[in-house]
Amino acid sequence: MPEIKVTPLGAGQDVGRSCILVSIGGKNIMLDCGMHMGFNDDRRFPDFSYITQQGRLTEFLDCVIISHFHLDHCGALPYMSEMVGYDGPIYMTHPTKAICPILLEDFRKITVDKKGETNFFTSQMIKDCMKKVVPLNLHQTVQVDDELEIKAYYAGHVLGAAMVQIKVGSESVVYTVSISLINRTGAAWIDKCRPDILISESTYATTIRDSKRCRERDFLKKVHETVERGGKGADEHEGPHLLLHGAHRESQSLLQTLHHLDQSEDQKNLCTEKHV
Ligand SMILES: [Zn+2]
Repeated sequence: MPEIKVTPLGAGQDVGRSCILVSIGGKNIMLDCGMHMGFNDDRRFPDFSYITQQGRLTEFLDCVIISHFHLDHCGALPYMSEMVGYDGPIYMTHPTKAICPILLEDFRKITVDKKGETNFFTSQMIKDCMKKVVPLNLHQTVQVDDELEIKAYYAGHVLGAAMVQIKVGSESVVYTVSISLINRTGAAWIDKCRPDILISESTYATTIRDSKRCRERDFLKKVHETVERGGKGADEHEGPHLLLHGAHRESQSLLQTLHHLDQSEDQKNLCTEKHV
């Protein structure tokens, strides 16, 4: 059996600039093209020189697949396609295609317009990059060429997040990224399969946390208390405390939690305790 090669160009043992190069059956696929939010120099981008020292990205790569819109997974995309140079297909789901350019432009404004940093992509580059995107439907098998086949499945995590199965001949790789099995918008699932390699992501693998149920109850209680104070903090001189950071995974999760708990027994119990 020919070998399958997996090369992290970013992330690996780190959180940020997720970018994994998979070579399978003579095909080269880039999985994600993220930004590292902890650096403000070239280290914020994946190490594309691993490929470019041998030639152009377009000649080397058969396709790029973006799993979801978080910047640590898509933030380096316009840099890669417009500044390093890549003209091949970039696959992502429809929701990711809709949200990704908004987050990229937002981050560009902060980085270039506000902080004055250089060596960064422009608004036009984001637009040109998005023209190379081919939208993916979930559960639809896409033939990238005669031999390379990809199929996306919902990964939970955030809207439009996809895990992907890549097949060349009898060999296959599954890239799960950040899957969620408890997401209220739907849990991750995939058809029964036996991939040769499974690539996953594990941000909190060694962290032991309180039960989700307890954290949700504490959170809801704090929200109720804050709303009763008219949105102010416990100290009357403090400003509003109910602020959610847009487009962030935790914000989406908190909003889902609020919506769910609002109709659950937890909420009823809390109200009963309060008014008796
Ligand atoms: Zn994410």
